Amino acid sequence: VVVAGPVNTSLTAEILAIGSEMLTPFRIDTNSLFLTSRLNDLGIEVIAKSVVGDRPEALVAALRLAVSRADIVVTSGGLGPTDDDLTRDAIVAVAGVTSVEDPEVVDAIARRFASRNMPMPDINRRQAMVPVGATVLDNPRGTAPGLWMPVGTRVLVALPGPPRELKPMWDDHIAPRVAERTGRQRLRRRTLKIAGRGESHVDEIAAPIYGRWRSHVPAIETSILASPGQVELHLSAQGTDVDQLDRALDEATAELATALGRPVFSTDGRELEEVVGDALRALGATVSAAESCTGGMLLGRLTNVPGSSAWVTGGIVAYDNLVKVDQLGVDAQLLKEHGAVSEPVASAMAAGVRARLATSVGVGITGVAGPTGGTEAKPVGTVVIAVDGPGAAHLVRTVRLPGDRAMVRQMSVQTAMDMLRRACTPPDYNLG
Ligand code: ATP
Repeated sequence: VVVAGPVNTSLTAEILAIGSEMLTPFRIDTNSLFLTSRLNDLGIEVIAKSVVGDRPEALVAALRLAVSRADIVVTSGGLGPTDDDLTRDAIVAVAGVTSVEDPEVVDAIARRFASRNMPMPDINRRQAMVPVGATVLDNPRGTAPGLWMPVGTRVLVALPGPPRELKPMWDDHIAPRVAERTGRQRLRRRTLKIAGRGESHVDEIAAPIYGRWRSHVPAIETSILASPGQVELHLSAQGTDVDQLDRALDEATAELATALGRPVFSTDGRELEEVVGDALRALGATVSAAESCTGGMLLGRLTNVPGSSAWVTGGIVAYDNLVKVDQLGVDAQLLKEHGAVSEPVASAMAAGVRARLATSVGVGITGVAGPTGGTEAKPVGTVVIAVDGPGAAHLVRTVRLPGDRAMVRQMSVQTAMDMLRRACTPPDYNLG
């Protein structure tokens, strides 16, 4: 009788972040995000993760549970020399082995101290205690070596807590070993980023398309992720033929991008500020901003990108009407007639900052961020944004944004960024 092997060879993983400091309000576990991304790259699904404090019973219980349900268990932290570093002892307990001092590890730690002209404290010897059966993984950036410990058919990987030590150790030591276990399974991803459209609108257009790709070979999994002013479609596919996965993902991405149209601003991982920066650079254009209710946040966002001095010139925070008049040259009559939150004033702010700072494009933002200051005609959340340039282009939009003050300001910046993108990329601006 021939028994077919399992069709789905995918492995599973569980991550434990060890350390009581991550159970306080002051520190968060970021290592698991890095580890999840690296495990996913190898086609491994993370089925659970947790943060465990420095308590021996809790740690042993968490490790035992993890080893019982996941093929690969990765821990970070708790490998230091002090009493509250418990990972080594917990591994010894869970694997049911003893540990012995490894003279080579003692030597390596002693050399590290010697290179800094310090004697090795006796407690650091604890870091050289290696569970029987474990392979020691060199940590060139710290004293705590990592451990690779097979437990039955599973494996337990212990890495030090500091991200600058953990990340290179994963790439140098763990990734190649884990890859051997997965065979050639890989997981590939694509992301479409969309501005100015709500989640349900995107889903309505995208669902019939990704519905089809879900039953394609290779199958593409999709998830939709919304944040203020932005929606992301995440596509992923698993298999052994990376070229085939990439081809399918590229095709599905292109199909979705075509269906969703202009609101899609990136399919290659770039953020909106990078897309805007690249568009301005391609035009050889520069930008300036006159900000009222956002108080400089748009310039903050634009200058998130390294090298943005090539396209961002500067700006004026024109919170008080006097600044709008004196520094931007907004006609006092316009303010009186239409009010500070109006299309003529936003347009004059954009044109004013563009002229004063001699840039190719000027942006003006004025609005009611709240919680007070709203009127019946202009309730809290009313924001007017104008983009003047490049060339003779001039866009102005009045929007009603939801949420509290922080949200209104964030969405104002997002809307301005998207208008800037559309103004600077062909085809011409089109609100449709
Ligand atoms: P070392 O001996 O180098 O200190 P260790 O394995 O004992 O290594 P910990 O003492 O647990 O590491 O953590 C050291 C520091 O690393 C923490 O103070 C924290 O800044 C950082 N760190 C630990 N765990 C994480 C985590 N899961 N995510 C992000 N940072 C972490």
